[in-house]
Amino acid sequence: MDAPRINRRALLKLASLTAGTTLLPMKLLAAAQTYRWQNWAGNQTAQPSAMHYPQNVEQIRALLASSNGPIRCFGGSHSFSPLVPTDGTLISLEAMNGLLQHDSDKSTATFAAGTRLGNASAAAWDAGLSFSNEPDINLQSLAGAISTSTHGTGLTLPSQSAQIKSLRLISADGQLHDLSSRDGDLFRAAICSLGCLGVISDITFQQQPRYYLREVTRVMDLDKALAVVEQEKDSVRGIELFAFPHGNTAIIKTFEETSSTEEILPPDDSNDLLEMVCEVSMRASWLTPTIQRLLGKFIEDGFKQGPAWKVYGNVRTVRFNEMEYCVPAEDGIATLKQVCATIRDNNINVMFPIEFRYVRADNSMIGMFGQRDGATISVHQYVKQDATPLFNAVEPLLQKAGGRPHWGKIHTMSADQLKQAYPELKRFNEIRAMLDPQGRFLNAHMRTILGEPSLDKVGQEK
Ligand SMILES: Cc1cc2nc3c(=O)[nH]c(=O)nc-3n(C[C@H](O)[C@H](O)[C@H](O)COP(=O)(O)OP(=O)(O)OC[C@H]3O[C@@H](n4cnc5c(N)ncnc54)[C@H](O)[C@@H]3O)c2cc1C
Repeated sequence: MDAPRINRRALLKLASLTAGTTLLPMKLLAAAQTYRWQNWAGNQTAQPSAMHYPQNVEQIRALLASSNGPIRCFGGSHSFSPLVPTDGTLISLEAMNGLLQHDSDKSTATFAAGTRLGNASAAAWDAGLSFSNEPDINLQSLAGAISTSTHGTGLTLPSQSAQIKSLRLISADGQLHDLSSRDGDLFRAAICSLGCLGVISDITFQQQPRYYLREVTRVMDLDKALAVVEQEKDSVRGIELFAFPHGNTAIIKTFEETSSTEEILPPDDSNDLLEMVCEVSMRASWLTPTIQRLLGKFIEDGFKQGPAWKVYGNVRTVRFNEMEYCVPAEDGIATLKQVCATIRDNNINVMFPIEFRYVRADNSMIGMFGQRDGATISVHQYVKQDATPLFNAVEPLLQKAGGRPHWGKIHTMSADQLKQAYPELKRFNEIRAMLDPQGRFLNAHMRTILGEPSLDKVGQEK
């Protein structure tokens, strides 16, 4: 994803010296201007006309003033949906990272927005603080994570967006907006904004004094696991279910704070096992139910514990494509049962488990958890297999259950459907148009999902 390291000045000089004698240098020049971007799953690519890595706010403002065409930011490139691709300008805040300041008494911490979640958590830990919750990996940038309401699990725990105290947004005209809850709708829109309100340069989170976490893993029959989740969801800090419908098996993980400061983090070899069974299942689909049934033999009940951020952050090396919807928390288990039955009844060959989590309601305008406690249901397909049959079978069920798609994952919802799912989407669009009247921060996907016309002087995509 690095921009090609070509000495463009030397190339330009060569081109001007040889102009008129040969076309070759001009071709080389065109090659020098080609940038490439790709997301983690490899299902999204782009060839932007420019790619920038600003080091401070002034450089961001200068970029906004000087660039033409659409502008999109990218963080860790971990989104599955086409939020980032543009043939205009791509901006990464990778060079703007680190803990900028913190207040131990108030448990607040301000980070440069390009900081990767894992680095932010480690720096916060050293300062005596922890995020109150985190997703299951930590390679996302902070700005990227909040821009799609990235979340972990826990019925009383908020998503990353809802942990924000304040943030700085630079709008298309270069103006700085320092936003907090005092700014009402503007703040509610900015804490999950899909990168279309402007560039977020730093974020202050409400954290908590640092804590140790214990994660307990249990393997059991799926039917029993569904009952256990219903039973335990209100009493544990966090609970997560991985369902294997073909084998009627499940893994449950629960998360609790612990007073023990002992670090017990056994090496994670689950990626090797997962890759192996995905390869077998892809080639011999009839073996999928047997492999899933045997899971209890491969995976033992166990636990890990340590500094919270180390327990949250898993390593995922087996690539997949993912669809995730959030349904009302109270309908979560019933919807999950339907999803499992559909996968079984339609004999859809999928080795990856269905992931089920809870997240607390928040006040965001277009976050998945806006004004309602949510249960999230994610289906994943191994990257070498076509995910379409799985997604096509499951998505109507999730929509029927009142589901809202995770903005960073695959979905096929139209602007009209999204307006139903996100009642404040119209208001969000008004705020977006106020901050960015020319639609400079929109790419083709954003225009589609927001129902914006694609004709625009500066925003038009090919
Ligand atoms: C292996 C894996 C595991 C995952 N686990 C979880 C999980 O547990 N929970 C969950 O909810 N999601 C999860 N996700 C999804 C992921 O957290 C989200 O898609 C997240 O938005 C990705 O963040 P990113 O930094 O990679 O941003 P990108 O994907 O690069 O960008 C996401 C959005 O942020 C915007 N953006 C980035 N930087 C800025 C900026 N500085 N200013 C303004 N806008 C900006 C972009 O324009 C884009 O709209 C997972 C994804 C993968 C691949």
